[in-house]
Formats: sequence, C-alpha cells, structure tokens
Amino acid sequence: MKFTILSLFPEILEGFFNSSIMSRAVKNNLVEYNFVNIRDFAFDKHRTCDDAPYGGGAGMVMKAEPLAAALDSVNAGQTRTVYMSPSGKKLDQKLSLELSGEKEIVIICGRYEGIDQRIIDLYVDDEISIGDYVISSGEVAALVLVDSVYRLCEGVITKESLEEESFQNALLEYPHYTRPEVFQGRGVPDILLSGHHAKIEKWRLKKQLEKTLANRPDLLESGQLSDEAEKMLNEMVIQEEGPNGYN
Ligand code: SAH
Repeated sequence: MKFTILSLFPEILEGFFNSSIMSRAVKNNLVEYNFVNIRDFAFDKHRTCDDAPYGGGAGMVMKAEPLAAALDSVNAGQTRTVYMSPSGKKLDQKLSLELSGEKEIVIICGRYEGIDQRIIDLYVDDEISIGDYVISSGEVAALVLVDSVYRLCEGVITKESLEEESFQNALLEYPHYTRPEVFQGRGVPDILLSGHHAKIEKWRLKKQLEKTLANRPDLLESGQLSDEAEKMLNEMVIQEEGPNGYN
C-alpha cells in the first residue's frame, strides 16, 4: 500500500513513518510513502500557496495552481484521491477497511481555511473528516487516516489482534491488564489469572457488552452482533430492567 501525501509541512509527517509499527511495515515493504511539498510547485517569486478568499471573509485559502501541479506530478487523476476536511464524510472502521484495499491513495492536507473548491471538484474522490471538530492542520488528520488504514493491510498486524479490537463485531473492546498483578492496591480480575480460556472469553464478551452499552449503545443496533453476544445482551438487559422491562 502506498500513501502519497501532499502537504505544506511534510516534516510533521516524518516522525510517524519513522517510528514503531509503521517503520517496520515500511522496512518490510508492506507500506510505501511519498511526501510531496506543495510549495515546491508554487512558481511565483514568493512561492505563494495561499490567497484571500473571493467574496471576502476571514483567513486564507490554499491556491489551486500549486496544488494542481503537485497532484499532476503524482498522477492523482489515476489514483484514489482524498482531501482531509471537517465537512467530509466521517471516517469509520468500515471506510478504513475499504481504503486498505487500494494499492495507493493520494491524500491532500489542508491548512488555513482549506483549499480552493475547484481542486475538490477536479481531483478529489473522497472528502474525509476525522470527527465533528476543527483542527488547524490537515497533516494531523491525514495521519489519523493513514494509521487507521495501514494497520488493516495484510501482514502489518496479526489477524488475531485485529479480530479482537473495538468496532469489530460492532462492539468496543474489553479491558486489558498486564503485570504487576497488584497496582496501587488494585488487583487483576481473578478470572484472567484462572487459565480457563472459555470462561475468560465469556467474561471478555460480557465486558465488551457492558462497555458498549454504557459508551456507545448506538453500535448495538447495527444488527452485527453474534448470536452469543445477542443472547448475553438480552440476559443483561433483563437482569437490569426486570422481565417486563422495568423493576
Ligand atoms: N475552514 C474550515 C476548517 C479549516 S481547518 C471549515 O470550517 O470547515 C484547516 C485544515 O485542517 C482543513 O483544510 C483540513 O485539511 C484539516 N481539518 C481540520 N479539521 C478536520 C477534520 N475534522 N477532519 C479532517 N480534516 C480536518
């Protein structure tokens, strides 16, 4: 999988690609990347990449010409091209999984008030938002997208780790514990020390359901729960509310 990222501040991106699991994926040729500095494609004397908005208003807009030249230099017309934007469709695990099937994606990082609309109209296949808030650097948003996508590419992370994660099967993940056994007077749930795998799995599923019910009940309505999860959830709700729906 190749990530081609267009940015005015590519130095922000370097550390991520040079660290931890990503650097290993790059070394093992599972991931390739290319940073394109949009300023290298601004050809006026001051290498201007932004200008005031037509119609007035606050802030500056990223100019179309340098962006178009940068996009043409990486053949964006032939590649799935994404613009990180708070007004895009919201990123979720399903979209990340879909993008992980691409051979290459081109990502445009916005700055200031964003980019000239004509670039979106002419080049962009997907406008993607990382959530309902505004940040000032498209680079940070792009890294969120890259991180959620590359880890789903074959060989980056074990299948087992991916299967147990949040949002897989429409549930949030169960709680984790590691050594020491007692920390600030708090122990580890006995069941996790029992070595009884079937019981541990059942406990974990219960914890997933409890957490999802408390934090993201909307996920439970997706119709993607396993039969076992559905059954356990019904038991939990009955215990909580009584058989008639109330106590
Ligand atoms: N004026 C814009 C915000 C621009 S923020 C608006 O109100 O919609 C500057 C850049 O940061 C954007 O161009 C975009 O690339 C990035 N950005 C900010 N918030 C984002 C979000 N929630 N998701 C994805 N990208 C975001």
